[in-house]
Amino acid sequence: MTDSYLMNTYKRTPVRFESGRGAVLVDSDGREYIDFLAGLAVASVGHAHPRVAAAIETQAAQLVHVSNLFATGPQEELAARLGELTGGMQSFFCNSGAEAIEAALKLARKHARVGGRDATRIVCATDGFHGRTFGALSATGQPSKQAPFAPLVGGFTHVPYGDAAALAQAMGDDVAAVLLEPIQGEAGVIIPPPDYLAAARTLCDGVGAVLILDEVQTGLGRTGAWFAWQHEGVAPDIMCLAKALAGGLPMGACLARPEVASSFAVGDHASTFGGGPVQSAAALAALDVIESEGLVYRALVAGRRLMSALADLWPGAEVRGRGLLIAVEFSTDVANEIVERALGAGLILNATGPETLRLAPPLVISNDELERGLAILEEVSDAILTTT
Ligand code: PLP
Repeated sequence: MTDSYLMNTYKRTPVRFESGRGAVLVDSDGREYIDFLAGLAVASVGHAHPRVAAAIETQAAQLVHVSNLFATGPQEELAARLGELTGGMQSFFCNSGAEAIEAALKLARKHARVGGRDATRIVCATDGFHGRTFGALSATGQPSKQAPFAPLVGGFTHVPYGDAAALAQAMGDDVAAVLLEPIQGEAGVIIPPPDYLAAARTLCDGVGAVLILDEVQTGLGRTGAWFAWQHEGVAPDIMCLAKALAGGLPMGACLARPEVASSFAVGDHASTFGGGPVQSAAALAALDVIESEGLVYRALVAGRRLMSALADLWPGAEVRGRGLLIAVEFSTDVANEIVERALGAGLILNATGPETLRLAPPLVISNDELERGLAILEEVSDAILTTT
């Protein structure tokens, strides 16, 4: 007899969270934790933001679901809002990051076909992460995650991230799209060289391929800009969002320039739940909060403060990041021990690898909460030093 009815796909800690507010979570024993992870870069507006909670409650009491055969106000308003933020992109709504990637891959191939190009290949980056569904997994450049599920979808080429020459070599008339994260999140917050995205843009234009940027983790203020591509001034043809979009509810969006989006015809793609009224109302509230509370700027300021404190705490480690998407890379495999000890001491963060910590706190985190979290890290760091 199994001791759990949950499938064994996560290494879960025994901590059970029951409530949260802003950047603080409370467990079933009433113990507080400072959240430096935001539910894997989801809770950008913090936990249980009153405006998001009120939007969900109001919408749920009015209308939860009608399917995409019918128009609803919140979905139309959300698409318009995202259009304004992206210089006129059109949205397809779904329920997760992986689904947004699936939509993007299908749109890229359809766009090539509509344009009369015999091009289906998608060029992606080694160590990139785009999700666990078959198309997204095929784009994900991590053999360890792919191997157990082979054969994958065909037509994907992987090249080293940040290497414009390698990308140039992989291009050809058969390329439908280049798909990249503007900063690789799951790989450990890897920031490419300054001209890399611009080179990708030029290479795509050279063969008529589309540039897809996966902003699932980096989008919506996380890096101190609405979208990470804005740091580089390189606009994509297609962009994927999810994570922070609906303030914690499951929602993804594939956005595209109208000239590209128009390659999808009625019936080409669909989602039963995508863009439902409750998720859309939550997203509108979350976007309002990001804007009215100045969270894009807050991410920049708090990120600088956090990065400089981390560099002081661990002078031998590499601290890298943008806004509130930060990694600390050590020269030894201490990351998991830090995560475990920090949790025990009331701080949540995670490790993207044995030597790499990732920090992605809610953008609403206060200076006081940052200091409380840093004090715990200092304590944990001292404890590890004295036991090793
Ligand atoms: N793309 C990126 C950059 C991500 O970081 C993730 C998740 O971590 C995904 C896609 C997949 O998103 P989801 O887990 O919502 O399917």
